[in-house]
Amino acid sequence: MSNVTLRNDTELLRQIAGWQADYKPGERLADYASLGVGGEADLIVLRDHAALEPLAAALRERGIAWQLIGGGTNILPVDEPFTRVFLHLAPSKNDVTIEGRNVSVSAAASLGRTVTYCAKNNLGGIEGLAGVPGSVGGALRMNAGAYGTQIGAVVRSVTVFRGVSGKIEELTADRIGFQYRHSSFAPDDVMLAVRLELNERPFAEIMEDIKRCNEKRRTSQPVKEKSAGCIFKNPPGLSTGKLIDDLGLKGFREGGAVISERHANFIVNRDHATAADIFRLMDRIRDTIRKAHGIELEEEVIVWKN
Ligand SMILES: Cc1cc2nc3c(=O)[nH]c(=O)nc-3n(C[C@H](O)[C@H](O)[C@H](O)COP(=O)(O)OP(=O)(O)OC[C@H]3O[C@@H](n4cnc5c(N)ncnc54)[C@H](O)[C@@H]3O)c2cc1C
Repeated sequence: MSNVTLRNDTELLRQIAGWQADYKPGERLADYASLGVGGEADLIVLRDHAALEPLAAALRERGIAWQLIGGGTNILPVDEPFTRVFLHLAPSKNDVTIEGRNVSVSAAASLGRTVTYCAKNNLGGIEGLAGVPGSVGGALRMNAGAYGTQIGAVVRSVTVFRGVSGKIEELTADRIGFQYRHSSFAPDDVMLAVRLELNERPFAEIMEDIKRCNEKRRTSQPVKEKSAGCIFKNPPGLSTGKLIDDLGLKGFREGGAVISERHANFIVNRDHATAADIFRLMDRIRDTIRKAHGIELEEEVIVWKN
């Protein structure tokens, strides 16, 4: 059973319905995580993002913990049921607006679709991110990056709902720290929207770069299999994928989880893997790298425990 308190709170459930939000009890997180693993959890999908403020206040009042889930492409949830509730901001048709070189995007928007929409408006600078799956909110949290582009580099401001104070603030880029696959947002900050500043560039040129990046991705990553992208961060100046590959670990498996033959820093769920299978495989990689090189690998995937 996931969250019993919420399930039995008819007053709050009525309010949630009134806020145009969908309450989905007892979902399998495995159906929301690109790795295809994760136990039972209650989800609330917000179609009107303005409902976040009253919803968060109501959950806080009742002592119900919550967390955001975006596209679910960088998470590794454990197999057990979760007591906290997952909130998801639903995308809408009007997620992107453009004024000159300034682009305002809802955090719920798909990152890939945002990149191509900007391209169609002759705005580039984020071509490398076209093939990164997931939402704009998840990309901001992770400072997603690929092929020389990181989203943090083009951010001008982010509208954030502060989970602790319950207030909405607009943070200019100088108040946000973006580092390699890391941002300085607090754990219970919710990114609602972002303002990006892009470069004017002809559509055809942008599309050529996007195609090149996507082709590289297709040939070097297991894009058709269930994964969460790179499992570990790269140590400074090194490639974790190469370190794993050089130690002959490609193709190693634990249960249904396999170290991809195409990219050694990807663990793929090939055959009904459990989160426990993936953890065992991660431990094996970590131990082997530690013994061979004395390097402690840091996780890039976000592990969700209860
Ligand atoms: C095939 C594949 C290839 C990938 N390639 C790359 C790559 O090249 N580069 C790269 O950087 N990543 C890559 N990834 C990883 C992943 O796509 C990115 O990290 C992506 O930006 C995560 O976005 P998401 O919406 O799926 O976030 P989720 O996985 O849903 O969440 C990730 C974290 O962000 C938080 N979060 C999500 N939305 C919000 C919000 N609105 N406000 C606050 N917190 C939020 C979640 O709570 C969680 O902590 C890849 C993944 C896959 C499966």
